[in-house]
Amino acid sequence: MEKRDYYEVLGIEKSASQDEIKSAFRKLAKKYHPDVNKEADAEAKFKEIQEAYAVLSDEEKRKQYDQFGHAAFQGGGAGGAGGFGGFDFSGFDYEDIFDNIFGGFGGFGGRSKGNRPMKGNDSLIRMKLSFEEAVYGTKKEIDIDIIDECEECDGKGGFNESTCDKCHGSGTITSEQRTIFGSFLSKTTCPNCGGSGKTYKKKCTHCNGNGRIKVKKTLEVKVPAGVDTGNRLRLSGKGSAGSNGGPNGDLYIEFTVSEHNFYIREGDDIYLETPITMVDAILGGKKEIPTLYGNVVLTIPEGSESGDKHRIKGKGVHNESSRRKGDMYIVLKVITPKKLTKEQKKIIEELRKTDLNDHEIKKFDRFVENNE
Ligand SMILES: [Zn+2]
Ligand SMILES: [Zn+2]
Repeated sequence: MEKRDYYEVLGIEKSASQDEIKSAFRKLAKKYHPDVNKEADAEAKFKEIQEAYAVLSDEEKRKQYDQFGHAAFQGGGAGGAGGFGGFDFSGFDYEDIFDNIFGGFGGFGGRSKGNRPMKGNDSLIRMKLSFEEAVYGTKKEIDIDIIDECEECDGKGGFNESTCDKCHGSGTITSEQRTIFGSFLSKTTCPNCGGSGKTYKKKCTHCNGNGRIKVKKTLEVKVPAGVDTGNRLRLSGKGSAGSNGGPNGDLYIEFTVSEHNFYIREGDDIYLETPITMVDAILGGKKEIPTLYGNVVLTIPEGSESGDKHRIKGKGVHNESSRRKGDMYIVLKVITPKKLTKEQKKIIEELRKTDLNDHEIKKFDRFVENNE
């Protein structure tokens, strides 16, 4: 059979918009879906429609098709039997479209959610940390409420198991649905066993037959060094229990870190405003600096001013997650003395009499003179 043009298959113009392509596909998919249409060639037609839509709904693939026709997708040769050529349809989400089309009719094509393994819910809790706890890392105990498997009945909800006699163990009930598209078979979760396919002679009183129960748990959490406000730690599998053998959800811990009285943290760098005397600023000097990892001595150069910044490499936060070591920045603040003794004043008066010879001050003074 000669392969038909994709635009012809969907009955649209070459210039059709994505909306027109989608709408054309929906109309045809409803008409030819094998659950609805019992004509012999319905399935082949449906496949043809799917294939045309998969290509034309993807701008990149559509461009290739417009340029090279069907040849664009026949290069690989793999899996050519279905007429799909070497084309990779694996990333295409048909389920999404069918949910939209058949959304109103409950179960479709045997996709019952009843006994399918499902991952448990994720949980999020917030944790407050002091500045130090965040910087150095810590261990903390937290109390959480999560849904866990019932220990009494091993999550089954009851004892003395037997096969559900309503669905005979399949967990689903098939019934004929009549719709405007015709009639088709519809599968719904068995109401008798809730989709598990099993019933129990004796209900578990501990979990009231749910198999799952809300429990308080105390967890010890290892907080890695270097976390900051807004960071989240993921504890895999520590969320609520899954169902039907599905995995547990994850537990996320979001941190809020308190501010420090002196240190200011920016990412992994630490800033510390450091007050120095006027004399140290003028003549230079040594100053002991507290870092996160013990004290160090900073040499203050002669002629320092407020706002001068000195970097101490590697003395910032040692971040365990990024394996980065931040730096520390010392920001000088020259303190002008407010209370001086007579003697101190005298010394400074002597200083005033000398020519301080500052270039910047002289320049300004010349500006003042010329302004008269
Ligand atoms: Zn059942
Ligand atoms: Zn139980």
